[in-house]
Amino acid sequence: MTINALTIDVEDYFQVSAFAPYIGRNEWDTRACRVERNVDAILSILDEKGTFATFFTLGWVAERYPELVRRIVANGHELASHGFGHHRANEQAEELFLADIKLAKFILEDVSGVEVKGYRAPSFSINAHNPWAFDCIERAGYKYSSSVYPIRHDHYGMPGSPRFSYEVRPGLLEVPVTTMRLFKRNWPAGGGGYFRLLPYAVSRWLLRRVNARDGQSAIFYFHPWEIDPDQPRVKGVGAKARFRHYLNIARTERRLRRLLSDFSWDRADQVFLAKREAP
Ligand SMILES: [Zn+2]
Repeated sequence: MTINALTIDVEDYFQVSAFAPYIGRNEWDTRACRVERNVDAILSILDEKGTFATFFTLGWVAERYPELVRRIVANGHELASHGFGHHRANEQAEELFLADIKLAKFILEDVSGVEVKGYRAPSFSINAHNPWAFDCIERAGYKYSSSVYPIRHDHYGMPGSPRFSYEVRPGLLEVPVTTMRLFKRNWPAGGGGYFRLLPYAVSRWLLRRVNARDGQSAIFYFHPWEIDPDQPRVKGVGAKARFRHYLNIARTERRLRRLLSDFSWDRADQVFLAKREAP
């Protein structure tokens, strides 16, 4: 059975890019945080299923919840970086992007005592217009990135880029989020809002097809707030952002449990880096 990589982007509900126009960064500290309880809930689900995963964690979260970061590591999961402040790579100058991802790596390693090898750009914000971001990721000392979603989407995407892991810079692997090829197009198969939008059987079919037909490991992602139907509702949000954020949120935990049972999962470094590092 193919082993796939399970990944979680550790950020709170008020930090998602779609809410950025409605919630200023200066308000983050005033919001009721849900990330700690939600990550703890994920840790118990993974423990129950005997599954290991990769947690792409914000430096902002690590600074406020160092014990949570240590629990992730103590449970045998991979700690990886989602940058410090959830700035999209395509909205930052090169020097500021580099500073942000270096700071996140430093804080995560300082808090956990383990090397952080993986990085994921907020909202998959590396595309054809900012390839310099890969140079920064390599310079910051990361070994792999999972920052590209090779699809067309209004907020992200690089539809022409490779669908499976490739060396994007010497010593730096890019592991794009999983897509399925059909009708000459790439279709999202690696999680996010699509996992909540599509019936579970469709998501399962997509992933099975990637494993069987492409013969490749998938990489799947979700967020802690996606299993939290009781999160405070953000006021004044536009209809599209509201629909995407809250859609089927009460069903996600159950779907996730099925996904964990129907496929084999492991940490992204084990699935994608271990083979390469073996002599
Ligand atoms: Zn994010």
